[in-house]
Amino acid sequence: MSAGAPREFTDLLNRLEAGGSINCRDCSDFLMAYLDNDLGQDVRDRFEQHLNKCCSCRNYVETYRQTVKLAQEACCPKANPHLGKCPPELISAILSALGRPS
Ligand SMILES: [Zn+2]
Repeated sequence: MSAGAPREFTDLLNRLEAGGSINCRDCSDFLMAYLDNDLGQDVRDRFEQHLNKCCSCRNYVETYRQTVKLAQEACCPKANPHLGKCPPELISAILSALGRPS
């Protein structure tokens, strides 16, 4: 379901190509794409490199995974796997209530 990368994502790729690295802000911006496997392998590698050295992002990923799991279970009982994913708006609302890493 890739209808062209969002502009922020193109910016990130350009930055990585220019020798930049993923920072905490990128982690929070692209976490959803990362967990959905929407990132290319090279970007995933960079993402994981950052996670390996940044424990606040690691915690954030863990919190996010748990949140998504709980939200999906709440929205989509296991008996109804075809209902699809929980609305991203709901997940972001929960996450902003939890607070993002700075
Ligand atoms: Zn970080």
